[in-house]
Amino acid sequence: MLTATRFITFALICSALGVTAPHVVTGVPGSMNIQTPTVERLVHLAPPGAHDSRYVYVPFDVPPHAVRISISYQYDRANGANTIDIGLFDARSTGSDADPRGFRGWSGGRRSEFFISRDEATPGYLSGDLPVGTWRIILGLYRVAQAGVDVSLKIGIETEAHRSSSPTPAPRQTGLSSAGATTVSDAERGTRRTSSPQKVAGRGSRWWRGDLHMHTIHSDGNWTVAELISGARNAGLDFICVTDHNTASHHAEIDRARAGSQQPLVLRGEEITTYGGHTNAWGLPSGTWIDFRVRAGDSARMSNVAAQARRSGALISINHPFALCGGCAWSYDAVARGFDAIEVWNGVWEPADEQALAMWDKILQNGQHITGIASSDSHRPTNPIGQPTMHVAANELSQTALLNAIRQGRVYLTSEVARPVVSFEAEATTGKRRSRWIIGDEIRLPAPGTVRFFITIETAPPDATISLISNGQVLRSFSAKTDGQPQVVEIECQRDSYYRLEVRDKTKRVLALTNPIYVKIGKDR
Ligand SMILES: [Zn+2]
Ligand SMILES: [Zn+2]
Repeated sequence: MLTATRFITFALICSALGVTAPHVVTGVPGSMNIQTPTVERLVHLAPPGAHDSRYVYVPFDVPPHAVRISISYQYDRANGANTIDIGLFDARSTGSDADPRGFRGWSGGRRSEFFISRDEATPGYLSGDLPVGTWRIILGLYRVAQAGVDVSLKIGIETEAHRSSSPTPAPRQTGLSSAGATTVSDAERGTRRTSSPQKVAGRGSRWWRGDLHMHTIHSDGNWTVAELISGARNAGLDFICVTDHNTASHHAEIDRARAGSQQPLVLRGEEITTYGGHTNAWGLPSGTWIDFRVRAGDSARMSNVAAQARRSGALISINHPFALCGGCAWSYDAVARGFDAIEVWNGVWEPADEQALAMWDKILQNGQHITGIASSDSHRPTNPIGQPTMHVAANELSQTALLNAIRQGRVYLTSEVARPVVSFEAEATTGKRRSRWIIGDEIRLPAPGTVRFFITIETAPPDATISLISNGQVLRSFSAKTDGQPQVVEIECQRDSYYRLEVRDKTKRVLALTNPIYVKIGKDR
């Protein structure tokens, strides 16, 4: 970042003096690079209509032997009435919202300048070869005042002085077209053994503690990847997923960290951030970028995004569907078809989470199984990772095992990493034998019958209230016992149902939520 600042200052001075001066950067030892004159562009942006694209492309030409491209932009923010996001596509792009080729990075509204070179780039951007041809700056119209806004762009390009004129080969495709071909590596499948306090009764599995939504300097966070990893380790988390907005530039750093450390397990993610809602992909293959250019309310295109993420082996989750920030609320399919999870708890419990919880419960009432999850959405230390935490029951701490368990709903959520400790199990007679089930299981009862639920909430405040909820109704509500013994609730199940727990303090703030145990009545097909 400091290097970029110095370089851009230099470029601007050169531009002002009307000279082109050589400037040495990394590359072939002893070579001198040439700074081409800074190109300036002024773009007037009018407020987009309801059906217009919110993206504008500003083309510029990259000559042969480019080694570094630096871009800065400025505009009148008009006290927050104007916010223009920025990103970059290389010569493979066509300037269409539907064409993912040539993606080279995105910084949203976070930065006013960035650079990209063969070997390094500003966080958020992808280093690599700089192919000859027409590149495009993408401007995202997050907010535009009624009068419109003038955006001034400066583009500086350095070229290698001594090279012959053969064109630079195109870099490896990192867009959607490569997503389907990528496979999960052995390291991702590998088992990681760590200590975790809570075992799952009778299953040989454990409850692993994690947080699947957080941001670094690769988008709008203050954390580095390394800080998140050490923070997660110190907090007692077993796994995390780094989900920077609309980029894959953090993946390489995660790959390096994974090679050096076993704990915590770090998943590669992306928060696909549209102007009509956000969604997280967890467990992406390295370098796989999911296109975010979906118009608000375009549910069909959003389903394609979900399908693309799933094809790459990732899970896909709807984020904070009622968050109040501009463009953060979910404008797509309210029944979440094609999604694996929904974030019902984002950071400190607040009314928007209550709405998300109600939305999830409605989806469950429709008979759909979708996993409710919680995350910190941490950007900086004031919003700590692991608050809240998700607990996932899996046989081993591997990406494959965790994602499978989350898909199955073997998940409960707590306000803090270590508490409360929740156990929610069920017992029923199916056929000839009595069996025990855990969160995420489906009990098949041959006919309507009794299910006994065993509930233990440890280290909760004494005034905490536990509610057993089914089909949109609170069936039972009672105080949490503190002696560690299970509280048993017997329910006559007459129809297909789901049963889940909410634990709240005396102010009704949520301390813990479980995913359901499902009951299905009738013979197996
Ligand atoms: Zn978000
Ligand atoms: Zn986020």
